[in-house]
Amino acid sequence: MERSLRKTSRVEAAEEARRLSEEKYKIIFENANDLIVYISSDGRFIEVNWKLEDIFGYRRADFVGKHYSEVGVLGPGDLERAMQELRNTVSGRPPEILEFQVRRKDGIAAFVEVNSRPIQKDGEITGSILIVRDITQRKKAEEEGLVHCSANTSEELVFICNCCSCHCGILGTAKRVSHASEILTSGYIALVDPELCSVCETCTDRCPVSAISMDDAAIVDAEQCIGCSLCVSTCPTGAIGLMAKPGTKIPPKTLPDLEAAMRRK
Ligand code: SF4
Ligand code: SF4
Repeated sequence: MERSLRKTSRVEAAEEARRLSEEKYKIIFENANDLIVYISSDGRFIEVNWKLEDIFGYRRADFVGKHYSEVGVLGPGDLERAMQELRNTVSGRPPEILEFQVRRKDGIAAFVEVNSRPIQKDGEITGSILIVRDITQRKKAEEEGLVHCSANTSEELVFICNCCSCHCGILGTAKRVSHASEILTSGYIALVDPELCSVCETCTDRCPVSAISMDDAAIVDAEQCIGCSLCVSTCPTGAIGLMAKPGTKIPPKTLPDLEAAMRRK
């Protein structure tokens, strides 16, 4: 009798632990600020969270149980890219972060960034979890030639904004000095492939800190380039890209330190 009671209380404790664990994951799933999608290995939606309505304007019932190709948010080229990425994930290849243009239920276009992870059951990949982030505002800022930046300080975050060198004091100053990368740095630098460069000068017009000059090909001033990537997204020949900047300096600690760096000749 006593043994049976102990067994019952162990079963009840295990059941309670399982219930709490499920509740915890449900809270995370339902309250995440990104859209989370659980998709089967053949491309059917198993579960989605509330963000679906926010980003796409659809309800859960419009997606769950349906195949990628049935919900109509991706154009044909992007649908094939999405399916290829799912095939890659299921076959065990490292997933890539991809961007897609999607069609919302109201017909308005939006942009998303998708980060996927394979789901394993009994040692087999049975599907994928997709973390889908709405990057529409970020894309708009990029199209407008705005730089996503914060005060380049390592120990305090004073502000974060999207701005241009005409209206932003820091970007404006960075444009006038000859060492902008010390005032603002992303840890990246633009790199040009002279073989591909058509000397179209699009990148010179886009660069917010005048870091690019023209010769037989575009030339990037390493001291001036802040690695904002505005030149990369509009280069018509793909001649310019970003690379991690070797020896990136740790930003000044505080705003006064940053201002001192800005005053340096
Ligand atoms: S935009 Fe591209 S092709 Fe045009 S000048 Fe710059 S690097 Fe060269
Ligand atoms: S990444 Fe390109 S646009 Fe941005 S600062 Fe460097 S050269 Fe200029």
